[in-house]
Amino acid sequence: MLNLVLFGPPGAGKGTQSERLIGHYNLVHLSTGDIFRANIGGNTELGKLAKSYMDQGQLVPDEVTIKMLQSEVEKHSNAEGFIFDGFPRTVAQAEALDLFLATKQTEIHQMLSLVVPEEELIKRLLERGKDSGRADDQNESIIHNRIEEYNNKTAPVADYYKSRFKLSEVEGVGSIDEITDRLYAAIDTIKK
Ligand code: AMP
Repeated sequence: MLNLVLFGPPGAGKGTQSERLIGHYNLVHLSTGDIFRANIGGNTELGKLAKSYMDQGQLVPDEVTIKMLQSEVEKHSNAEGFIFDGFPRTVAQAEALDLFLATKQTEIHQMLSLVVPEEELIKRLLERGKDSGRADDQNESIIHNRIEEYNNKTAPVADYYKSRFKLSEVEGVGSIDEITDRLYAAIDTIKK
């Protein structure tokens, strides 16, 4: 199996790059943001709960997010591996993921962290908001809250993987193709 965490602040390009990596390495893409949005679209109880946090640019509580992620992994018992996109976003989520994958006799092999300066993120998110239909991409104060949540709660997750020698930092500025090539190179190094 090959299990990767694609990491980075909001607007770093995790979703775009995940779509490319899944085809190349035959992996299942699990984006917690996409799953929450699908639940909001389906008006489920989980969707209603998630929306109350997402609309403020805040993280959905760990307990709910972890449970949801585990049930998504369970749905793909034949997967050759996963790309986790937007998860884990807290150290508690990272610890829960490790324990959960250990019960499946597997683990996270590498975190790929896309590094993008903050001004570029805000520019990209506002641009994406013009046609993504995402309310959280259209309001600068929500974008600031998301970046603050990232700096306070999510950035420490990179240290969690770094201390386990599983962190690769990849420059996230350039053309989409250039960034994909950097990610391929980083992943191919670990696969060797
Ligand atoms: P994203 O699509 O990854 O930008 O996520 C959109 C929003 O969904 C975030 O701002 C959070 O409110 C929520 N969310 C997504 N993934 C997580 C997670 N792992 N933990 C908590 N909240 C999350």
